[in-house]
Amino acid sequence: MRRYQEQTKELIQVICNCCGRELKVEQGILKEGACRLETGWGYFSGKDMERHGFDLCEECYDRMISAFSVPVEVKEETEAFPADDGELW
Ligand SMILES: [Zn+2]
Repeated sequence: MRRYQEQTKELIQVICNCCGRELKVEQGILKEGACRLETGWGYFSGKDMERHGFDLCEECYDRMISAFSVPVEVKEETEAFPADDGELW
């Protein structure tokens, strides 16, 4: 879960939706690893036209993917670049 300052749209808070821990945010920048997932559910789903999103801390992400039958796809990035919210990845 992410909260933004209304006027400036600056990121002010990130909470892991799984464990409820507040992640470290300094001056609008998320300072630790996190997974943000957003997905839109279409006509063929049971959640017709809903958009869902959540954040996971790295620990909860690791625990979740360890239960997968097929491992996640991993690619190495050649350089870090900021995402829309200033987060480097
Ligand atoms: Zn967590």
